[in-house]
Amino acid sequence: MQLINLAHPKQTVSFQQALKQGQGVNRGLFFPPNIPSLENIDALLDGDFLAICQRVLEPFVGDEIPEEPLGELLQQAFTFTPRLVATSDGSHALELFHGPSLAFKDFGARFMAQCLHFFGDEECTILTATSGDTGAAVAHAFHRVPNIDVVVLYPQNGVTPLQEKLFCTLGDNIRTFAVDDDFDTCQALVKRSFEDDNIRRTLRLNSANSINIARLLAQVCYYFEAAARIPGNDKLVFSVPSGNFGNITAGAIAKAMGLPIKRLIAATNINDTVPRFFQTGSWDPNPTVATLSNAMDISAPNNYVRLARLIEQQHWSIGEDVVAVAIDDETTTQAMQKLFADGYLAEPHTALAHHALLAQQDRGESGVFLGTAHPAKFLERVEQATGHQTPLPPVLAEHAQREVLSTKISGDYQEFRETLLS
Ligand SMILES: *Cc1c(COP(=O)(O)O)cnc(C)c1O
Repeated sequence: MQLINLAHPKQTVSFQQALKQGQGVNRGLFFPPNIPSLENIDALLDGDFLAICQRVLEPFVGDEIPEEPLGELLQQAFTFTPRLVATSDGSHALELFHGPSLAFKDFGARFMAQCLHFFGDEECTILTATSGDTGAAVAHAFHRVPNIDVVVLYPQNGVTPLQEKLFCTLGDNIRTFAVDDDFDTCQALVKRSFEDDNIRRTLRLNSANSINIARLLAQVCYYFEAAARIPGNDKLVFSVPSGNFGNITAGAIAKAMGLPIKRLIAATNINDTVPRFFQTGSWDPNPTVATLSNAMDISAPNNYVRLARLIEQQHWSIGEDVVAVAIDDETTTQAMQKLFADGYLAEPHTALAHHALLAQQDRGESGVFLGTAHPAKFLERVEQATGHQTPLPPVLAEHAQREVLSTKISGDYQEFRETLLS
């Protein structure tokens, strides 16, 4: 499928080009001009997860990746599945954290790595900014993939020590930079590098952060998987903990493809640019504030333009089809406590989504909140809120022993550029 650049609609590219370029001219994001609608969704939902992925992705990539290699590639990428867990209040957690880096970003990163591998393995550098979990997912997805170097930038004080251990200890083809500033600055450094022709050509830059269309498309699949596990329901409500708004955009694509999603809830922390935008109509980002749900400490969400396009194109109404809620740290802590008392252990991002779901769900609707990270990834915060000590899953326990290999830099572009080229 040909994709267009949302900032410069005359630029159209193939999926392969979008995959490799990341973003287009004018820093524009690539997106399908129209979302294909799927027929026979009921039959599709009878399949297992990999079969569902195949049917969902085929309309987007089928002309470039034939059926058989697509199936093989999906098998390589998705060595784990989403799990749907019912909570005692009648809602469902869609747990997306059973992959190698224990967060939902494994889905997008691993699909992207396999697609790059499929389209040939010319040398390139994956340059990405992370507020925590992208770095781990990308580092693990690309670790030791031949001909691909990975550079990850993250806010030094914006990730937990364990998160850092998980992606800054791999070495080999993975380089990590601890930036003495916030996530928006990391993201700005990445954007500037892409605009820097010299850097872009020398290193053959590719972005793997959530602006890459491959990551977004991979995430569409698990909305269908959730629907498949809640049979007979045509009133699905998904609550999505949102930072850069990639995950909820994937949900919006699923809705546009015909999945019976009644409402999408964008649950943010107090970095609430979108909830305020929905209320007041003015786009007015505040300085980014550190919160318990640090992977969502983003006040200028990159993917919002894609969601905005879908809202307009599909004639969705704000308040009905799409809503946004901002939740502060105190409420997030209470949400973790309440869930724990009800027998479900959740980390802050997931608990925040659960709280937003209960606030925005009507009777007769099937509520699903997305579990975006394993509680052990945020174990200090989980323990502080609930008093419960989460045992480290083996992958984390092993990384926790290793030494952090990151280079420390300020937010200055020239400094970063020189280090990158050295
Ligand atoms: C990245 C992340 C989010 C936010 O997802 P977006 O697609 O950026 O909105 C939420 N929760 C966790 C744990 C994350 O790592």
